Amino acid sequence: MCCGTLTCEMSRHTTFKFCLDATVEQHKVLARHAGASRFAFNQCLRMVKTALDQRRTDPDIPVPWTGFDLINAFNAWKKTEDAGRVFTVGTEGTVEAMVTGLAWRAQVHQQVFEEAAVDLGTGLKAWSDYRAGNRKGRRVGFPRFKKKTGALASFRLRNKHAKNGPPAIRVGDNDRPRSITLPGIGAVGVHDDTRKLRRMLTKGRAKILFATVGQHAGRWWVSLNVEAADLHPAHHHQSRSPGDDGGWVGIDRGLSAFLVAATSDGEEVARITDAPKSLAAGIKRQQRLAKSLSRKQKGSRNRRDAAATLGRHHHHVANVRRHSLHQVSNSLVKTHDRLVIENLNVSGMLANRRLARAISDAGWAEFARHLKYKQAWRSGELVAADRWYPSSRLCPACGAIRGDLTLADRVFTCGCGHSADRDANAATNLARWGQTHHQTSPEPRTPKHGGRATNARRRDGADRHPSCAGETSPVEAGTDVHTAPRGLNRRSPENGGVSNPNRGCSTRFKACRQSGG
Ligand SMILES: [Zn+2]
Repeated sequence: MCCGTLTCEMSRHTTFKFCLDATVEQHKVLARHAGASRFAFNQCLRMVKTALDQRRTDPDIPVPWTGFDLINAFNAWKKTEDAGRVFTVGTEGTVEAMVTGLAWRAQVHQQVFEEAAVDLGTGLKAWSDYRAGNRKGRRVGFPRFKKKTGALASFRLRNKHAKNGPPAIRVGDNDRPRSITLPGIGAVGVHDDTRKLRRMLTKGRAKILFATVGQHAGRWWVSLNVEAADLHPAHHHQSRSPGDDGGWVGIDRGLSAFLVAATSDGEEVARITDAPKSLAAGIKRQQRLAKSLSRKQKGSRNRRDAAATLGRHHHHVANVRRHSLHQVSNSLVKTHDRLVIENLNVSGMLANRRLARAISDAGWAEFARHLKYKQAWRSGELVAADRWYPSSRLCPACGAIRGDLTLADRVFTCGCGHSADRDANAATNLARWGQTHHQTSPEPRTPKHGGRATNARRRDGADRHPSCAGETSPVEAGTDVHTAPRGLNRRSPENGGVSNPNRGCSTRFKACRQSGG
């Protein structure tokens, strides 16, 4: 438990993901919940569309739009005749209709309906924000109906805390360490070790917010979204004095390597030559499996099995890639407190980089996201260089820009006599960019200022951190982290994001919003 008066700052959001070892009966229950979630989403969308149609003739018709409205609309609907009725024939031949409402509604947990309605509310808000020009990024379409096939089956449950009772979602109940207890479903076995999470929970260093259960690659998985205590101060980077502009390390996407990192002096500190070999090997297997699938007769059992095999293969490849990204980002944030990366969006489009680069871009964006939250957990800094900064073509020695540098030039040479490896040269330039640009703004950079510099300190200050049991060691970082720490990733209207659609509609929805990457 936390020490008396000093409460531990719970500011890291992380995820623990476990593979479920469900019984045959539980498989049916999980599938039923996922189906109910899809049904509720579609029914809510149907009500919205109907109301929108009616409003064309009658402008006073209310349209449920927020998650809160949609929950109320769905709850009202599920008891109506429209949701379900039975006909009873009396002895005299009279037919009577009896309103039952949604007959199976008691077979699934009520929260599944509510969370589906909240999801639709989020989608509707994203659409209307985009239409109004209040949302940046990719085009957002109007929500569409979820299909039974194709879409990933999943549902979400919140962790309710009764005043004096145990929380609704528990890990390792009844001396069964490898199990997770979900409201309305009961204890479900898991394949993985849950010790780290259990230890954090019993010591009050973690709180489960909600659980998302879904089916991927033929298995059911549960993702526990956890609010965890800060890392131990020993794992934080030393704070630098205001005038200190050293320690910057630039990270460049190499053409031959996945990444090259270098200091501003031109010293190469890391070079990850390539993604794991299994990825390259996986492509051949993928081609073989895909070809095998295409040769199977449509609708046949063989085809279904071949599709499952291919799905499992994709899952495996994704796991290998994610694991390597975590390894590389961990090693970088542990050893360097100031990192500079190139701007993500435009450099890929502008520089005429070939197809292989485009494929690796997805991995790069994910990698940058890892660096961002991991660096913030350790009070380090990460900045993105100006999108027009010519990191590849600049000479760090004399400042000249070589406009004629082509992709074939593996070594950067300058008229002043300077020469360096092309990728290391770009990394050096990025490091120098960080050195010169990190203090241009007089105000301290906070996430509010566009989130560029991410030196997120605890509110109580890292140096004065109480030595209570409330810290989390890096090994307890979670199995798969999807969310950035507080403040950094929290989209707010100030930075052009989406505000919490459930704000103000009571605390019970606080935990239900899934934070995006
Ligand atoms: Zn030069």
